[in-house]
Amino acid sequence: MGETIFTKIIKREIPADIVYETDSVLAFRDIRPQAPTHILIIPKIEIPAVTDIKGKEHASVLADLFDAANEIAKKENLVEKGFRIVINCGPDGGQEVYHLHLHLMGGRKFSWPAG
Ligand code: 5GP
Repeated sequence: MGETIFTKIIKREIPADIVYETDSVLAFRDIRPQAPTHILIIPKIEIPAVTDIKGKEHASVLADLFDAANEIAKKENLVEKGFRIVINCGPDGGQEVYHLHLHLMGGRKFSWPAG
């Protein structure tokens, strides 16, 4: 699996509205937001999809993704009312970009089951 658009964002080859960054994680606003707050949180290492996660090898970066999500949720004032985190996987899961990412969405009420 080759380099994706998210790698180009990490390398600053294309612009993005970056809201959070550490050595291991980058987060930026989704270009087609599906909620008032819609932020993508990605590891800087290339893990294409959930099916490529190796628990022991990737444990630390996975923890970093969720630490980032909580930090951003606080900054975006989403904690009191709540928010949704989504990971799409594969064609039926609706995955478009094959670089693992959390969708952190908030600022509106979400329905369940997801569409
Ligand atoms: P997926 O469908 O793979 O779970 O989510 C990919 C997300 O990336 C989509 O919500 C899409 O709007 C977003 N996206 C695709 N290309 C870009 C881009 O160049 N910049 C930003 N900020 N978001 C993008």
